[in-house]
Amino acid sequence: AVPARCSLAAADSVSAAAPILRDLQMKCATPLPVLRHVADALAADMRAGLAADGGGELKMILTYVDSLPTGNEAGLFYGLDLGGTNFRVLRVHLGGKEKRLLDTEFEQVSIPQELMCGTTEELFDFIASGLAKFVQKEKDKFGPPKGREREIGFTFSFPVKQTSIDSGILIKWTKGFAVSGTVRRDVVACLNEALKRQGLDMRVSALVNDTVSTLAGARYWDDNVMVAVILGTGTNACYIESVDAIPKLQGSTYQSGKTIINTEWGAFSNGLPLTEYDRAMDCESINPGEQIFEKTISGMYLGEIVRRVLQKMAEVSTMFGDSFPQKLSVPFVLRTPDLCKMQQDDTKDLNEVEFILSDALGVKSSCLGSRRIVTDVCDTIVKRGGRLAGAGIVGILQKLEQDFKGSIFGRRTVVAMDGGLYEHYPQYRSHLKEAVTELLGEEVSKNVIIEHTKDGSGIGAALLAAANSKYST
Ligand code: BGC
Ligand code: MG
Repeated sequence: AVPARCSLAAADSVSAAAPILRDLQMKCATPLPVLRHVADALAADMRAGLAADGGGELKMILTYVDSLPTGNEAGLFYGLDLGGTNFRVLRVHLGGKEKRLLDTEFEQVSIPQELMCGTTEELFDFIASGLAKFVQKEKDKFGPPKGREREIGFTFSFPVKQTSIDSGILIKWTKGFAVSGTVRRDVVACLNEALKRQGLDMRVSALVNDTVSTLAGARYWDDNVMVAVILGTGTNACYIESVDAIPKLQGSTYQSGKTIINTEWGAFSNGLPLTEYDRAMDCESINPGEQIFEKTISGMYLGEIVRRVLQKMAEVSTMFGDSFPQKLSVPFVLRTPDLCKMQQDDTKDLNEVEFILSDALGVKSSCLGSRRIVTDVCDTIVKRGGRLAGAGIVGILQKLEQDFKGSIFGRRTVVAMDGGLYEHYPQYRSHLKEAVTELLGEEVSKNVIIEHTKDGSGIGAALLAAANSKYST
């Protein structure tokens, strides 16, 4: 029966939106052959990126990490983490093999919007002053450090061309950042200058991507960790590679024979099922033509894609009432956490969906049919994102397995996952895992453990600072 509040005209209006939904579902479909193509193409692009610097879509960045955490790391180390949404400072007290983590303490603030499009100095002054406040507080507790500088692992979650373990040049900004004057500069030098302005005496011992610190943090507890993936505001993956499989490394010596490669897979685009909504969003973004995989699967963009679909629906139908809801045309007003909340709504009448639509978009959806269409749109976009992310993971595993048969699929292999999207969105997670199982088959996928490592990145950065300490022998 038609609910009382839903007039016949409203029921009609929903039918005008239905073809848009069907068309969307068709274009976003990710059946097995599409997933397989994505996994294969990613593996091929990885090889191309390892062979030569630049050129290809995947940068396959050398991280200069030449030893993985052993558990023996000891002492007080600091982590700084500039992500897409938050900035974090932490102190980790490492106790060596037996005791491991003695203590961690951290503070986190969200990055003010205006800093994302301000100047380099403003951004790094903000980081340095956050660090200064943190250190000031502990001075009262611990007193000054004796005879050595405090050492920091600096997690910088953007594409950086590393020039050594403790220096690297920003290639480009991503995730809505457009800070002036940073591209092509050494971000450690930028930080050091800001530290000096704060009168802070600290030393960056390791500059790492967030995927790399996550991998290090997870590997501290589990030797089978081979890959780390971030699915948050942005997305990326790194993994442990054999030095022999990196032609562009050319003669550099790495004691362990292994190193971590930061793929920067957000830049991948080959064969993705895209729609007019994706293309329009990309065109209007601050980095058109770039980070297409990221724009299809990561948290910054899923809500915006859904908004664009709903906007189109509202233009051709009256599913949200007779007049067009103005807020619906404001970019990024619908956020991925809103989609998530709507998808958790298990009330018969989708009351939560109605509330969120009205709250976030100023949209009236008094007809149950309209609310159903909205959740179907969310599901379509989130399913595509999760499944493509799963295909990406399989692409990496497959590349490693092709090089050394049995090394990945023949034994327990762990993929360390982090990021708000993965952590907080159960449907996204299940779509991701389902795609991995479809691609690998039941048997093999039993060996592939996809595991959330919460806060691994902070500890990981501190571990890499310890491993690269100037005081260690
Ligand atoms: C950046 C990566 C980062 C990822 C996750 C992407 O936008 O390019 O360097 O690892 O976001 O934070
Ligand atoms: Mg982060």
